[in-house]
Amino acid sequence: MTSMIVVSNRLPFVLKRCENGILSRHPSAGGLVTAMSPVVTEKGGLWIGWPGLYLNENDVIPEGDEKSNNAAERIGPKQIRSVNIESELFDEYYNGCCNTAFWPLLHSMPDRAVFKKEGWKSYLQVNELFGEKTFSALKNVVDMHPNGRAPLIWIHDYQLMLVPNYVRDMINEHGLHCKIAFFLHIPFPSWDIFRLFPWFDDVLVGLLGCDLIGFHIDGYVDNFLECCVKGLECRVDRENQVIHYDGRTIRVQSFPIGVPFKQFEEMSRVVKSEVVPHPDCKMILGVDRLDYTKGIIHRIRAFEKLLDEHPEHMEKVMLMQIAVPSRIGVQEYMELKDELDREVGRINGRLSTHKWSPIRYIYQCLKQDQLCAFYRDAYVALVTPIRDGMNLVAKEFVACQIGEPGVLILSPFTGAGETMHEALICNPLEEYGLAECMHRALAMPLGERELRMSALRRRERTNDVHHWVKTFLKATKAFNGEDNGSLAEPLTINQIEKWLAKYVGDTMKLVLLLDYDGTLAPIASHPDVAHLPEETKWILEQLVTMPDVYVAVVSGRNVNNLKSMVGISNITYAGNHGVDILHPDGTMFTHPDQIKYTPLIEALRVELESVTTNVEGAWIEAKGSTMTMHYRNVATEKRPALVEQTTAVILKHSFKPMKAHCAVEARPPIQWDKGRASIHLLRTTFGIDWSERVRIIYVGDDTTDEDAMTVLKGMAATFRVTNSRPVKTSAKYRIPDTRSVITLLQWVQQHFQNKINRKSSVSSNHSD
Ligand code: UDP
Repeated sequence: MTSMIVVSNRLPFVLKRCENGILSRHPSAGGLVTAMSPVVTEKGGLWIGWPGLYLNENDVIPEGDEKSNNAAERIGPKQIRSVNIESELFDEYYNGCCNTAFWPLLHSMPDRAVFKKEGWKSYLQVNELFGEKTFSALKNVVDMHPNGRAPLIWIHDYQLMLVPNYVRDMINEHGLHCKIAFFLHIPFPSWDIFRLFPWFDDVLVGLLGCDLIGFHIDGYVDNFLECCVKGLECRVDRENQVIHYDGRTIRVQSFPIGVPFKQFEEMSRVVKSEVVPHPDCKMILGVDRLDYTKGIIHRIRAFEKLLDEHPEHMEKVMLMQIAVPSRIGVQEYMELKDELDREVGRINGRLSTHKWSPIRYIYQCLKQDQLCAFYRDAYVALVTPIRDGMNLVAKEFVACQIGEPGVLILSPFTGAGETMHEALICNPLEEYGLAECMHRALAMPLGERELRMSALRRRERTNDVHHWVKTFLKATKAFNGEDNGSLAEPLTINQIEKWLAKYVGDTMKLVLLLDYDGTLAPIASHPDVAHLPEETKWILEQLVTMPDVYVAVVSGRNVNNLKSMVGISNITYAGNHGVDILHPDGTMFTHPDQIKYTPLIEALRVELESVTTNVEGAWIEAKGSTMTMHYRNVATEKRPALVEQTTAVILKHSFKPMKAHCAVEARPPIQWDKGRASIHLLRTTFGIDWSERVRIIYVGDDTTDEDAMTVLKGMAATFRVTNSRPVKTSAKYRIPDTRSVITLLQWVQQHFQNKINRKSSVSSNHSD
């Protein structure tokens, strides 16, 4: 049975339409395809991706070549699930967001990044399409093998950063379990850079749908952890590289990718030389996609400097630059090509002699065996990107160095620079230094070259691409993805102290605004049995006696029902999302606009009852001015239709449908919610300048609480209780469960008790 579903932007081959309309397959190049294809063929996996064009209904994807040595060519249509995307949408997603926003931003080049709402919308849409396709592939596998182990979902790269959470949402909704992993093939920047992306929190939440997130090097892992701390207030264990988020534990780890070492080594043994340089002329080699991250212009200027500073190299060395056309048609890339053409022309014009030109420049994509000849015959490889996730060229060069060894010059701003220590590491932005480094490489004695190259080759031979896959898969097995929730560390009182001590302070009153269901009381199968835990009740009873603490419970329940469930006097109860507010002195506020909807609610109830009457497990709760259809006990497959019908009926009766925990609420369409109710309560209780006189803590678990968290942003410490799936929230902090709410209340109680104790010891000292 299928044990893995690979999801990447492109399939392992690109489809092209011939003149007769028939599709033909063309292998995709790159490390991802080399790494994943053998695993997919061996493990009978599935590959989900974009096929390169829009497929028509009758299109037939050509069969794979079962006899081919190349695993990617063996993958047949049965193992493929194409994500069909209209070309306009694909263009907006790929060029309007992936290439123009994420590529420069994640490479720490924010000046080049363009953030457009349209592009982002397309990114959301395309990621959702990938998510749906992935989920339906998973569901098919699970339906066919109900007792088997669900396949691992392994999502790749920056084009699909929202897919993990889309899939997580769908598997939760359908009660399925499977592990979700992600690997980023490019760098991940620091918080200062990443936060420039206007929707950075969506990206983080998207990725945190995973169980395991892989990066090339520890530096990127550190950056990601920092972004989760700063951007989402996640609790992070840096030492163990885990994130506690939404009641789950997400592992984040580095897995430096390698190359198919043996394959390159073998190719380099058999290929003929591409260039036959003069025996006295050494080749310095550059191989890159023509991209602004690769530092090609700096490199050729540094080479010019080498010839100026050390004229003894004239006619004895040449720079062979292979520049692979990339993102043709994009303005920035056309400009780069023009600049490169000009610079090569200028330098060659200035320095060429009748028998020698310093730079040879090839603007095309070579086949890998041709490339191997260059790698083998080069005296120096110049791998000097300004920023690069890993850089495979450096590793391929090393694999092909089977003869007298040459020298690798490597930029420290590449992932490879972190592990390939025996290379000459050189900052490419300093042209003089780079020229000197080339000089040193050209003059390096054989003994030193042998020593460096043999260490480099040993490491890359062991840590090849197959080792990378194995290590990653081993890591996915090392944690129990399904039961991740139980691995989540409970929230500690020390953590609360760190979050709140400074904010709450000693001088102001504290207002606690608390939601009931899912916050104070654990969610239950029926609202009548969602009891307040004894411990919570005890702490609340202590809190209401404290002079500097004011407690209000803000809920979607009917206000009288809420009061009887909590059962404590001296608390303000805001029911029906704050439409009714019952003060401790017995006075009641009711929002004036809701009165006209009271006569309409009975007709709504009757029709909703008829919708739910034949659906087992569904029931209607009438709550005065609002009403709720509960479907927690309804079979999963019946839920979508029921929710749709309920929503339509609510709208028909001029009420507002609102999604809640396994429920749909009907609310009067008045401009009132928990946010407005909270502000009303604060104003009427503490005056118009309340924000200068009280500190506020708001805790809630539901989307209806988001209204309050949004209006209180920056003016309160807001907490969202979330479990099992990442949600986007306006809350400042996330806590995993109602147990953590107890810890939070305990901290408040201790904090104010200490204050009371201090006051009483001061006054007793005075009276002494
Ligand atoms: N490559 C190729 N033909 C060429 C030049 C490069 O097939 O003419 C391949 C090269 O073998 C390597 C990849 O392109 O596997 C470049 O990977 P790298 O990580 O260095 O850079 P990227 O293009 O992924 O940014």
